[in-house]
Amino acid sequence: MSFGIDDLPVRDELRGKSPYGAPQLDVPVRLNTNENPYPLPEPLVERIAERVREAARDLNRYPDRDAVELRTELAKYLTRTGGHRVGRENVWAANGSNEVIQQLLQTFGGPGRTAIGFEPSYSMHALIARGTGTGWISGPREEDFTIDVAAAEQAIAENRPDVVFITTPNNPTGNAVPPGTVLALYEAAQAVKPSMVVVDEAYVEFSHGDSLLPLLEGRPNLVVSRTMSKAFGAAGLRLGYLAAHPAVVDAVQLVRLPYHLSAVTQATALAALEHTDTLLGYVEQLKAERDRLVAELRAIGYEVTESDANFVQFGRFDGADGSHEAWRRILDRGVLVRDNGVPGWLRVSAGTPEENDAFLDAVRELKKEHS
Ligand code: PMP
Repeated sequence: MSFGIDDLPVRDELRGKSPYGAPQLDVPVRLNTNENPYPLPEPLVERIAERVREAARDLNRYPDRDAVELRTELAKYLTRTGGHRVGRENVWAANGSNEVIQQLLQTFGGPGRTAIGFEPSYSMHALIARGTGTGWISGPREEDFTIDVAAAEQAIAENRPDVVFITTPNNPTGNAVPPGTVLALYEAAQAVKPSMVVVDEAYVEFSHGDSLLPLLEGRPNLVVSRTMSKAFGAAGLRLGYLAAHPAVVDAVQLVRLPYHLSAVTQATALAALEHTDTLLGYVEQLKAERDRLVAELRAIGYEVTESDANFVQFGRFDGADGSHEAWRRILDRGVLVRDNGVPGWLRVSAGTPEENDAFLDAVRELKKEHS
């Protein structure tokens, strides 16, 4: 028998667990990780090369530890698009919003503390909680994947969490959480004890509604987290950020590794921000394709959860293994979608019109086989 993880003295809570792992399969149409299907435009690629070349000359030095220029530009972007004035002192950036979330849990969670999310939701919240020694509480969602305010308030009152996650638009279901619900849960959480409420807005640029950034006003325990992985089409860059009261920005610096954002990352992100308008142009196309997927899936006869994101949850697939079986059959037709383990449902990311056509052909055939 070969030596494996279980032979190592790993922490008890990691024993028998699997790492996060959306399959990275080499198939013609990959619509499983909510990436933006459009490659970066050539002028931006050139600009990145230029800025990285400049940064390369100084790579003998550590990067700007506080990422001042980048945070200033991110603040300008949020102010311009989010309906709320945000300054550099309100913004913090890290390697993907996953790292932002990790830093938040290292700061406000940890051993002896708990975090709650309303599931099904973004599975990394629970995994990062585990990795930081934070207890995880699975809060309730309704059959239609909305959050019932009274049930959620009750879960908060009973469990007294230190961190509350609200993902809007939610992943994997796609629906947005109304601002009134976020406000009610913020109040419910503060009524129990001072606790942090993290609004994960990874997909907000694709939403029919507005960002919840204006709610930051007068709410120092609220954090809005964002990413350049989706709307900016830069998942490979690994750049996430948050907006919050300046005290939160000071607090996360207690746990961030020094120089966590490389000079290459900062230079690349700054180049991408110079091209914000072009990149957000793709968002409009993706929103239109998302709406087309919703309409066509319904026309074919599938149930679809209302989507404010760049992906769509569809079903239902009956039987104990129904959604996984459907996932495999769609894959047999060369299209990779996501089985998030929500019984009866699958998730498809909006791709290019051609990719979406290939997906729709595959699920049309699947439906015919079953009728
Ligand atoms: N939040 C949500 C809701 C997500 O779906 C994702 C990515 N799938 C992330 C955060 C993390 O994104 P990244 O680390 O690429 O910024």
